[in-house]
Amino acid sequence: MDMHDAVIVGAGFGGMGAAIQLKRLGIDDLVILEREDDLGGTWHVNHYPGLAVDIPSSTYSYSFEPNPHWTRLFAPGKELKAYAEHVAERYDLRRHMVFGTSVSAAVWDEDAQRWHVSTSDGSVHSGRWLFTATGFLSQPRLPEIAGIESFAGRLVHTADWDDSADLTGERVAVIGTGATAVQLVPELARVAEHLTVFQRTPIWVAPKPDYPVPSVARRVFAALPLTQRLVRWGGSALLEALMVGGVLHYKNLSAFNRAAELMCRAHLARQVRDPELRRRLTPSYSFGCKRPTFSNEWFPTLARPDVTLETEPIARVDERGLVTADGRRTDVDTLVLATGFNLWDVNFPAFEVLGREGRNLGKWWRDHRFQAYEGVTVPGFPNLVSLNSPYSYSGLSYFTTIESQMKHVERLFTGMRERGATVFEVTQEANDEFLERMTDRVADTVFALGSCEGAHSYYFNQHGEATLLRPTSTLNALREAGRFPLDAYDYA
Ligand code: NAP
Repeated sequence: MDMHDAVIVGAGFGGMGAAIQLKRLGIDDLVILEREDDLGGTWHVNHYPGLAVDIPSSTYSYSFEPNPHWTRLFAPGKELKAYAEHVAERYDLRRHMVFGTSVSAAVWDEDAQRWHVSTSDGSVHSGRWLFTATGFLSQPRLPEIAGIESFAGRLVHTADWDDSADLTGERVAVIGTGATAVQLVPELARVAEHLTVFQRTPIWVAPKPDYPVPSVARRVFAALPLTQRLVRWGGSALLEALMVGGVLHYKNLSAFNRAAELMCRAHLARQVRDPELRRRLTPSYSFGCKRPTFSNEWFPTLARPDVTLETEPIARVDERGLVTADGRRTDVDTLVLATGFNLWDVNFPAFEVLGREGRNLGKWWRDHRFQAYEGVTVPGFPNLVSLNSPYSYSGLSYFTTIESQMKHVERLFTGMRERGATVFEVTQEANDEFLERMTDRVADTVFALGSCEGAHSYYFNQHGEATLLRPTSTLNALREAGRFPLDAYDYA
């Protein structure tokens, strides 16, 4: 058995953040197991045309590792991948990583007080502490459409993009109109002979203030990091206002939500003249029920004569193309599935996790509601830090979540060591109090008070509860991460 102090599952930004924090705590004996063949998580797996971050890059990065070299306010995907590589280099993480290793199960060994983590190649890695950083958007969703397996052309999911595929002059169809399609479709429209976009649910789209970062600004950021920090604060403050005002405090600040909706409607009206197309692109659910996106190109692309927006439901796919419910055919050479990811069925957790007395985390969550203390730990699962837990996602930039979790780990491990302990487990009381508080808070949000029916939002679990996002400000999350009562845990 491969023995370590800590096992981390996932070499994306979450897993790397956990590793950096452990190293800061002096824990260097760790292994990072990664399913893919390189690091970077989302930013390694996704490389479809048009991929870019849709949170300003100065905010979508570790605060302690600013990158003065972003070429745009919203950096392209390959710069995020390069940034991940830079971070791994800078914090000496690569030597801990094992690629092409898919974890199948993790079991708590009560006698050894360790986690045993099995992989699909039959190896077992043992750690005193287990960190799961498997991401939320890591299991591609393949749509269950009748006959899709019979399609004879090129079929590709956006998370499995074939860089060698040349779609120039082809008839192309895209299923889905989420954030991924919004980035990809304008790129495909540039090369395809004809592009058809199959929309089931429209998405709220805000203008994207995206500009190249002039080289002089990059030099200033490098020489005077405070200047970039100011830009980061500005970006974070705007995102926080959007999230807190527009989504979380809907009960008292619904005007914010309406203002965000109006901004998106005005953006659509400015870019699309045809009232019928405008109507079909206008969501019927409240802003914030589902993740909105930012684009200046989405609407103009759909207004192009060589692009068709198809809103009739897809009845089936056959070897030549798609057939809609009204019997019309769209024959295509390439069918792109921009159908997103399955979160709730397969990601909570991403593999079997058995805690004390064989408690099965996935079953327990499904039988007892999705919950995790501060979005990090779960009763019955000692020494498990579950980074992709219910209520863990805080704010719009994922780095806010990562950094508040790093802070929680710092406080927890410091408290544990001060007690001469090596084992922690969150108490049932602390967990229950947190769950009750989050449940109360959700009642004030757009998820409870807005009209979210028909949004098809992955913010909601299979029971219809909005248990993905932490319904507090990111400031609250960060504050609690540094101040939670240490007696929220039992130590041994
Ligand atoms: P998504 O938001 O889940 O969108 C999937 C789309 O596919 C939806 O429009 C969905 O329609 C449609 N769909 C799924 N199954 C279908 C079916 N059987 N028939 C017809 N339509 C179907 O996925 P995504 O666009 O990949 O984005 C996922 C998340 O990734 C985003 O919310 C965002 O958090 C992240 N993302 C971030 C960036 C970035 O720049 N940071 C870029 C891309 C993605 P319904 O809505 O009707 O279900």
